[in-house]
Amino acid sequence: MKKNNRHAKKNRILTAESFFEKLSVSVLFPPCFCFPLFSYPNGYPSWEKRISVFGEKKYSKNNKYICIRMNKKNITVEEVAGALKHVVHPATGKDIVSSGMVRDIEIEGLDITFTLVFAKAQDPVKNAVTGACEKVLRFYVHPDIRVNIRVLPLQAKAAAQPSFQAGHIVVIASGKGGVGKSTVAVNLAVALVSMGYRVGLLDADIYGPSVPKMLGVEGVQPEVRIIDGNERILPVEREGIRILSVGFFIRPEDAVIWRGPMASGALKRLIYQSEWGDLDFLLIDLPPGTGDIHLTVVQELTVDGAVMVGTPQQVALADVIKGIGMFRNEKVNVPVLGLVENMAWFTPAELPGNRYYLFGKEGCKQLAERENLPLLAQIPIVQSISESGDNGQPVVAGKDSPTAQTFMELAQNMIHQLNRL
Ligand code: ADP
Repeated sequence: MKKNNRHAKKNRILTAESFFEKLSVSVLFPPCFCFPLFSYPNGYPSWEKRISVFGEKKYSKNNKYICIRMNKKNITVEEVAGALKHVVHPATGKDIVSSGMVRDIEIEGLDITFTLVFAKAQDPVKNAVTGACEKVLRFYVHPDIRVNIRVLPLQAKAAAQPSFQAGHIVVIASGKGGVGKSTVAVNLAVALVSMGYRVGLLDADIYGPSVPKMLGVEGVQPEVRIIDGNERILPVEREGIRILSVGFFIRPEDAVIWRGPMASGALKRLIYQSEWGDLDFLLIDLPPGTGDIHLTVVQELTVDGAVMVGTPQQVALADVIKGIGMFRNEKVNVPVLGLVENMAWFTPAELPGNRYYLFGKEGCKQLAERENLPLLAQIPIVQSISESGDNGQPVVAGKDSPTAQTFMELAQNMIHQLNRL
């Protein structure tokens, strides 16, 4: 005992620096210990007093250094936020505090409650992130705290919300019409369904809604039901895809007068008043070019990425560049997942080893390299693609052909790019 007192006296005359130096080599301690010491409002009290406030002191076995067991009184919001900064979301590579995922921290004694906001409704790492939060709080703040985490998906708009949750919303866009955008959207949807995903396909191409024809549901009238007192449009189902199209609601001859607010209004109805259910992917087939519909979609929904479809033809590429520019514009700010080069070449059945580059060679591939974007797929001109589009039977539905395989690879590449965001 006497010996201990002697050492206590010795320690009392240590400077703060040397105390911390010794403390760090000797013990025990998470960095948050420093916080209440440095924030003491009326200057530092004596070491003895400080230790009695914050915890109990002990001596190491050789009686050389003081060890302090913290007996924390007041946990602060800053402390909790500082600890949570040690958790990094693997997809963004950023810590959850700086990226704005942590909100509304409340502290009551040893009970810590806060909200974690995830960008995606079904974030695959949600459990890992919440588990990591608990661990860092126990390690850095106090081992006995009780953690209560509210998990919320990021709400794109506070007012009206679509009645569905989609893991990923992807738009399929093109610079020009007639390059195969809807063909890609339909076959991509079938490929995703065959991989086991729940897929919705929203045909927003008001100038040429061709999805119903390509999926054999032309002329079908979607059912409308009253659900929870609200009118809801039920998507039509085909090939396992939940489909809605502006084509279900307008006559082709009227499409040309659909412009601006009228078209955007109809699209909003399809977004907000439809009973999509939970989806892994919602694919949206946009009209060609850049315009009101594009803006409506990106303003109303949290779009995860855009797939740009083009042909290798030089005159078409200028429009693809404009499309990429629109998505990259800071007001739109939708990541371009990559390019699809459609009608890349033609191989006649009687000359299977030959490739004829009817629209030029590798125009999209070179553009992708220039724009530093992935080339997601090169799709040749194949008679079965145009025939299947006409008879409402997508090529991926007969899975074994090389063409079907190309669309499956496109789906895998797209998922890969989404996972990298
Ligand atoms: P967009 O949506 O860009 O207007 P579509 O998907 O409607 O283009 O395609 C236009 C036409 O080209 C359709 O008749 C479609 O069947 C045909 N088509 C698209 N891609 C191919 C392809 N790779 N091979 C053969 N025909 C194709």
